[in-house]
Amino acid sequence: MKLFDEKMMQIAIQEAKKAAEKNEVPIGASIVYKNEIIARAYNLRETSQSTLAHAELLVIQQANQKIGSWRLEDCTLYVTLEPCPMCAGAIVQSRIKRVVYGAKDPKAGCAGTLLNLLNDDRFNHQAEITAGILETECANLLKDFFKELRQRKKQGS
Ligand SMILES: [Zn+2]
Repeated sequence: MKLFDEKMMQIAIQEAKKAAEKNEVPIGASIVYKNEIIARAYNLRETSQSTLAHAELLVIQQANQKIGSWRLEDCTLYVTLEPCPMCAGAIVQSRIKRVVYGAKDPKAGCAGTLLNLLNDDRFNHQAEITAGILETECANLLKDFFKELRQRKKQGS
């Protein structure tokens, strides 16, 4: 399982790198159904100027279209950063079975860090969580991105 998870997380990391190329905060996601990737996306908040354009919401929408259903009961979502409250909400709504994430998010994480919206039995759905898959690599993507951003700002370009 761990090897498979790492392989699928690599796809999410590739997506995150595409985001960085567009000067978007590098967060990427993929969805696996029956051991196959059916959707992949990355954060597009700046490009689309949409609050909703988080990688997870985009990848969920793609998977909905692919499967032809709003229910993603047999799917696993891979994402490089722990989901925020909005995305954790969408994960509950979509009935995703399992969520695998890389880096923890101390500022918005709702899959165990600040809150755990995915494992609350007051909701009508819970998702299994696997945290810390390729954690360092996922965290470094963000660290490097913000470091570069600060340097560019300092240089005034
Ligand atoms: Zn989010």
